[in-house]
Amino acid sequence: MINVKSLTAVLVSALILGVLYLCNSLSYSRTSPQQNITPNNITPKNRLSADVNAMSNEVHLVAPDHLQYEQPSIVQGSRTDVVTVTPWMAPIVWEGIFNPVLLDGIYKPKNITIIATVFAVGNYIRFLKKFLETAEQHFFVGFKVHIYVFTDRPNEVPQVTMASGRQLMVRLVPSSKRWQEISARRMELIQILIEEQLPNNRNYIFCLDVDSEFHGRWGSESLGGLVAVTHPGYYRDARSNFPYERRPSSRAYIAPGEGDFYYCGGAFGGLLQEVHQLAKTCRHNFEADAKEDIEAAWQEESHLNRYMWINKPSKVLSPEYLWQDFKPRNPEIHIVRFSGVVKNYAEIRPNP
Ligand code: UDP
Ligand code: MN
Repeated sequence: MINVKSLTAVLVSALILGVLYLCNSLSYSRTSPQQNITPNNITPKNRLSADVNAMSNEVHLVAPDHLQYEQPSIVQGSRTDVVTVTPWMAPIVWEGIFNPVLLDGIYKPKNITIIATVFAVGNYIRFLKKFLETAEQHFFVGFKVHIYVFTDRPNEVPQVTMASGRQLMVRLVPSSKRWQEISARRMELIQILIEEQLPNNRNYIFCLDVDSEFHGRWGSESLGGLVAVTHPGYYRDARSNFPYERRPSSRAYIAPGEGDFYYCGGAFGGLLQEVHQLAKTCRHNFEADAKEDIEAAWQEESHLNRYMWINKPSKVLSPEYLWQDFKPRNPEIHIVRFSGVVKNYAEIRPNP
């Protein structure tokens, strides 16, 4: 015998389910026209944001429509005299291996801001003018750039005309009697600056020495999660000759037989959250060492090298990105993009 009550219950539930299903499909079809476009409908001419995934700034690269450029090869390298990838598969950036027009085409529409930090404490303020003037000519031209100058002499910050979209911000920092302290405290101030900027964590930051000038393009080819620059003084050397911190009691210690490259303290960068992690860790380790009366061989540069040994950079910049004016150019250096000026340490540093 069929129970009339349960039959009614089944029929009513089926009806409710049916109505729910209908509402559900209606709400799906009420999406924006863009989401209904199938890839077949998209002609190259009217490509819409439907096929552009804005999820990840770093890994998703969208090329501009119809950009004509030289066919890339995977069997014939444009540079065969240098190594262009690390053993952990990070690119090593050299002149000739990238297409600047293509890269700018990819990164400009992302509407990112490039933050640069530069410290000009005490006599180092004298380097700031040339640094800023040459950055205008070569550093991320055509991008939104915010340069933060940290100084104890705000009145001596030079007036430099900047292109639209580029800004200079001045932050007051205390003077110091020891250059080692000025140099090392940068990590703390960078950490604090990034903490303020982090809500917009799609942006990038580069932390640069002030006693240097730009001579060639430094642009979107250098963007990456964590970016390190190989030091011009050691890039051809065996790791046993790198001036890493060699005392195991320091938190910057790197054991013999370890280490990839020797990286510069004078230029590094990456995505905000990556550089935040780096600055915070280096600052913590530097301060913990100081409590035990240890100062690493090359202050924050030693801690940075330790950090990069453990946390591999996702992009490595060749010494084109921080050369030294006094060094004769080696044949593999096709362009010097950024270079440290010759300076008289005794004249400019607060202590020997
Ligand atoms: N610095 C500074 N005032 C000083 C010493 C250092 O502003 O009295 C900053 C400045 O940005 C400088 C950086 O710290 O470029 C690193 O110091 P320096 O360039 O002297 O180190 P080097 O490149 O010679 O190793
Ligand atoms: Mn320097």
